[in-house]
Amino acid sequence: MKYIGAHVSASGGVFNAPINARELGAKAFALFTKNQRQWVAKDLDEKIISKFKEELEKSEILPKHVLPHDSYLINLGHPEIEKREKSLNAFIDELKRCKQLGLDRLNFHPGSHLKLISEENCLELISESMNEALRQTDGVKLVVENTAGQGSNMGYKMEHLGYLIDNSIDKARTGVCIDTCHLFVSGYDFRSVKTYNETMDKFANIVGFEHLMGMHLNDSKPDLGAKVDRHHSIGEGKLGIEPFCLIMNDDRIDDIPMVLETTDDTIWAQEIELLYSLIKN
Ligand SMILES: [Zn+2]
Ligand SMILES: [Zn+2]
Repeated sequence: MKYIGAHVSASGGVFNAPINARELGAKAFALFTKNQRQWVAKDLDEKIISKFKEELEKSEILPKHVLPHDSYLINLGHPEIEKREKSLNAFIDELKRCKQLGLDRLNFHPGSHLKLISEENCLELISESMNEALRQTDGVKLVVENTAGQGSNMGYKMEHLGYLIDNSIDKARTGVCIDTCHLFVSGYDFRSVKTYNETMDKFANIVGFEHLMGMHLNDSKPDLGAKVDRHHSIGEGKLGIEPFCLIMNDDRIDDIPMVLETTDDTIWAQEIELLYSLIKN
């Protein structure tokens, strides 16, 4: 089964996210559990937590189909130790917030070397940070996202994700989220049956579908390999509809949150419907 939704607004309180998802007819959603551009946030109080759980139940969306996204400020591979520790602490706090909300996974971007250290060194630091977060928390999976390869961001190669899984101290709690726009602009083609199979076989070998714990469904404004992160509405960009059709009919990709981060939120309900309509059988 496919569980499709969108990254909905949680403004006014996290409990608004399931309300917004329900209005879209979504079966999954993503949200920020705090302001994504700030370091500190007020702790979630009991009232807000129970309201969130109540609204989630009403939406009939399962906790495992919710994919919270961490703050954009966090860089688990920051070359400077003080800033890396600040990031790690904020990351651990986000994992704890997810657990409080009854959610089982947290989506994050690997990190950036800021041109101060090598890519290898940066990956080692990210891996260390992830392992420390795994040690200090429980119950919530770390879901690292592939990136567009813009600037000095790590995660634009499947090998980066594979490395982070291979070096994880708790592989069952370590997963990945594939963003289709990022995958394409980072240089992986999957627009035809042939290229789709090649790319997905690569993913199976280097990462493994058992670690796929979420997807971001976005079309792309830039072309293949452009390494520029610009999302587009489904079917409107350089990817077109075919790759989404292949994804919707791939049963290796089942029972995970699949979330739109497309540019025009006024057509999310239609995009969700469109994606469901691509499912054959
Ligand atoms: Zn994404
Ligand atoms: Zn993006």
